[in-house]
Amino acid sequence: MRDATEPSPVAVQLARMPRVVETLLAQHVPDAGSRCRGCGLPGTGSAYLRWPCSLWLIADTARRLLASRN
Ligand SMILES: [Zn+2]
Repeated sequence: MRDATEPSPVAVQLARMPRVVETLLAQHVPDAGSRCRGCGLPGTGSAYLRWPCSLWLIADTARRLLASRN
């Protein structure tokens, strides 16, 4: 039976790629104003997203999946 706490299929896929998870977690970090450094694109005029962003949340779930397997 599925419930709301079940990890998303994307997170399950990511958990097979530890280096990608590491890279995402390293890039998507908050700045002093709690905005994601990884999601903003300086020089393009795109707005920074509030942290934690969706990508970080997915990567964090994948990291926990990895940790639970080791
Ligand atoms: Zn981000």
